[in-house]
Amino acid sequence: MSIAPVLALALAATLAPIAAAQSPAPATPAPYATTKVADNVYVFRAGGYQSMFVVTPEGVIATDPISYANPQASAVYLQEIRKITQAPIKYVIYSHHHYDHAAGGKPFKDAGATFVSHRNAHARLAALASPDVVLPDMIVDDAGSTILLGGMRIDLLHVGNNHSDNTLVMLLPKERIIFTVDWIPIQGLQFRDMADGYIPDWFAGLDRVLAMEWDRMIPGHPGPGGRFGTKDDVRALKEYMVDVSNAAKQLAAEKKCLNDEAMRAVRLPKYEGWGAYGIYLFGNVERFCEYWSRGI
Ligand SMILES: [Zn+2]
Repeated sequence: MSIAPVLALALAATLAPIAAAQSPAPATPAPYATTKVADNVYVFRAGGYQSMFVVTPEGVIATDPISYANPQASAVYLQEIRKITQAPIKYVIYSHHHYDHAAGGKPFKDAGATFVSHRNAHARLAALASPDVVLPDMIVDDAGSTILLGGMRIDLLHVGNNHSDNTLVMLLPKERIIFTVDWIPIQGLQFRDMADGYIPDWFAGLDRVLAMEWDRMIPGHPGPGGRFGTKDDVRALKEYMVDVSNAAKQLAAEKKCLNDEAMRAVRLPKYEGWGAYGIYLFGNVERFCEYWSRGI
């Protein structure tokens, strides 16, 4: 019985210096995490959601507050930024207007941030008037815009309608990184029946993203193993959408697009290993069936 305290002390003596060296700041509680991805560029993750933020001596450029599934996420997000810098929070840029990414901006508004979105996101949010979503102060038109701050540059690009009519692609030209949300899942299917989705404009947007100069895509939902996307992922996603579209076009030709059983029978084995294949394939087929059978 007398051995235990001695061992415990010895263990403590061994571990203490290591623990001190590895833990300069309080640990971030699950399910939150912050990762540095390039000089001045970070990703904040809250559960299955993530946002990019950029830190400069002149201020911080944050993106989506992601506080829909985790109501405390934006407060933790701000705390995480404050562990890195005390520079003013200059901007919050919305990737698009959907609440699961845009909700929870209040702590950033209180910190003095200017909220930025595409013009259509402002119109949607003004009409919906959710108490949980801060209205944008600054509008980006279809022509796009650029934010220059403290030596960093972010291009805000609208590549047409896709998963919404107000999605922005945020391009860091020097770092060759893009942040864009929901419309280019990495090795995953589109969400359910692609609500608020625009066919066929979506395809043109994918081509425009492929024509841009970048190497890494930070998605709004982590890819497999938490990885970022590449242009190969965009090409694969486009190929998947073409395959779904062709399957639905065939059903439409056979007048089977109002037949749930026929839509459920569609199989695309090439994508069986992709996220949500078993859950969302039906919805994805249904969306393209609406397009090919009724022009919707
Ligand atoms: Zn969305």
